[in-house]
Amino acid sequence: MSELRDLYQQVILDHNRKPRNFRRIANANRTAEGYNPLCGDRITLELTVEDGVVKDAAFQGAGCAISTASASMMTSNVIGKSERAVDALFQGVHAMLTGANGAAVEGKLGVFAGVREFPSRIKCATLAWHTIEAALHGAAEPVSTE
Ligand code: ZN
Repeated sequence: MSELRDLYQQVILDHNRKPRNFRRIANANRTAEGYNPLCGDRITLELTVEDGVVKDAAFQGAGCAISTASASMMTSNVIGKSERAVDALFQGVHAMLTGANGAAVEGKLGVFAGVREFPSRIKCATLAWHTIEAALHGAAEPVSTE
């Protein structure tokens, strides 16, 4: 079990050190800001959405390792997906992070199941996902996890 935890940590630390899609998008047509006051994590998310498909996704901001890794992996996972598929992925990740037992997500996103053991960090992991939902569904106000 501790080996599994090491794997979680390695994946998260790798994405924190080398965040994927940490950049701006010149022709973004959706954007949202997310803030987690519990930890101080802030992200600005930019998307290019065409014909209901996320063509590009990128983020900027500053936060803890978990929030940065989550945004890195979230953007990597949504590029090329339809808005509906992104919504389904959000539901799956949210259930995995907050659900009682056994909710799981396939692939590398599953590493965030390890965060469940640290309840104070769950909002760090969900911030990027709440932010993309806001970007896709048009929340006018910045997203706060509070
Ligand atoms: Zn955090």
